[in-house]
Amino acid sequence: MSEAAARSFNTHLRERFGCRVHRVAVDGGFSCPNLDGTRGLGGCRFCDMSGSLASYAEPKRPIADQVRLGIERIARRTKARKFIVYFQAFTATHAPPERLRTLCDEALAADERVVGLAVGARPDCLGEPILDVLEEFHRKTYLWIDVGLETVNNQTLERMNRRTTTAEFVEAMRRAKARGLRICAHVIFGLPGDSPDDMMRAIDLVNELALDGIKIHNLYIDARSALAVPWRRGEIPMMGRDTYVDLVCRALEKLRPGVLVHRLTGEAPGERHLAPEWARDKNRLLEAIRAEMRRRGMAPFF
Ligand code: SF4
Repeated sequence: MSEAAARSFNTHLRERFGCRVHRVAVDGGFSCPNLDGTRGLGGCRFCDMSGSLASYAEPKRPIADQVRLGIERIARRTKARKFIVYFQAFTATHAPPERLRTLCDEALAADERVVGLAVGARPDCLGEPILDVLEEFHRKTYLWIDVGLETVNNQTLERMNRRTTTAEFVEAMRRAKARGLRICAHVIFGLPGDSPDDMMRAIDLVNELALDGIKIHNLYIDARSALAVPWRRGEIPMMGRDTYVDLVCRALEKLRPGVLVHRLTGEAPGERHLAPEWARDKNRLLEAIRAEMRRRGMAPFF
């Protein structure tokens, strides 16, 4: 059985910090350029309009309180002993640099079990002043920047009202990587209009730009997203589970050695999850991916 080139992010964290490490999602009160009119008003069509904030997070509290409450809750149900504070909601890098610096400092000081930060970004919100702040925290702590690529197909990006382009992603990533920053790219498989070739080209781009991590997830329909309306009318074709599993395995085969895989599934919380049915059960989906990896002679690493 051959070793897959990519590696599990969780295993990496365990090796680096000597224990289980969990993310704590917080809401820094950020906005998004695709919602506040800077780039657009409607948002990406797959967006759940909470900026994809974890369901347990409690916006509007001071960051330190959110961190402590989140840690308490997660520590009760998992064996995690260290935590990475994740500015998940909306676009953290859309904030003025000073504000981002203050919030990052508050998050790091909130609890001694905090060992790092993750910051949600869009490629059009990574100007030099924000990169200066990110580089400062990259030196100070264990920092990840999560950037949405979603797809390399610009027509799909347009149809999804994403209001960024692949060229913008490439340009921003080159500048961020030149500073040595740790980047995780977010990719969606199954966007309407995307071909399997487009999805594999996204993996090629992650390799070419020497990005450090990847989150791949299946397209899912959240009841709060704009896609829910055409989906209810039967206008959004959904990928089948076997096709998704096949594409994920092809992507894992293709990823350059050392890329850390942060995620391979996606679903909306509870009742909000409209489709696909097979994505509701994350564990079963991961098991199906493992089984297919074994069938292809790849050693599952998660
Ligand atoms: S998905 Fe992200 S970038 Fe798109 S509208 Fe929602 S918060 Fe903004």
